[in-house]
Amino acid sequence: MSISENIAEIRRQIAEAAEASGRRGEDIILVGASKMNDAAACQEAIAAGIDVLGENRVQEMVAKLEQDAYRGRPLHFIGHLQRNKVKQVVGKVDLIQSVGSVELLAEIEKVAARLDLVQDVLLEVNIGGEEAKSGFDPDAVYAAAELALTMPHVRVRGLMTIPPVEKEPHGNLPFFEKVYALYVDINGKLYDNKWEYISMGMSGDFADAIRAGSNMIRVGTAVFGARNYTK
Ligand SMILES: *Cc1c(COP(=O)(O)O)cnc(C)c1O
Repeated sequence: MSISENIAEIRRQIAEAAEASGRRGEDIILVGASKMNDAAACQEAIAAGIDVLGENRVQEMVAKLEQDAYRGRPLHFIGHLQRNKVKQVVGKVDLIQSVGSVELLAEIEKVAARLDLVQDVLLEVNIGGEEAKSGFDPDAVYAAAELALTMPHVRVRGLMTIPPVEKEPHGNLPFFEKVYALYVDINGKLYDNKWEYISMGMSGDFADAIRAGSNMIRVGTAVFGARNYTK
């Protein structure tokens, strides 16, 4: 299957899940998680109508930016971001989806202030409470969202989550529902309901994520095919 056939099939499934939750397919943003796929593959996905490309490794993103891989579409950073690499990302991407600590938030504020710009971000929620995973504990997201309001060069646009690796079909649905509830609550209490993005769902579970309220999914394998880790 080609990238464009893959995207057509994903769009079909998106529309189905969106309609099941009273929305339309067009309401869901499809982010192509393009790690380990080259600039040509990114451009192929763009030609086939992907909405956004998302990268999760700074070095790879910088190299592909030089090759103009993302021309024509917004770029998001979706991976774990180390503080010493913030300089290479702020101002280069439309949205940093994966802000999971107050230290990282503060560093983004500092770099964005220096560049005199406002960086859009999402707060990442560690909904499974996994020790190895980054992201805020659900209880800590409120304080982080509140703190961000005091930072003039950071604008929080919503939440993102990566649930634990799914062990059974629909296993992540309860996690998605929890993050959606958190999104609605914080958005109403602290952000005048101005948040726009709730990013959850990947190749194996995006239909459930959409049913639970997601409006942004990050899909790699189902768009680009299996990643080749031996290269
Ligand atoms: C790779 C990646 C995805 C996509 O994963 P697939 O299972 O290949 O769809 C989504 N989100 C993040 C943060 C990723 O790193």
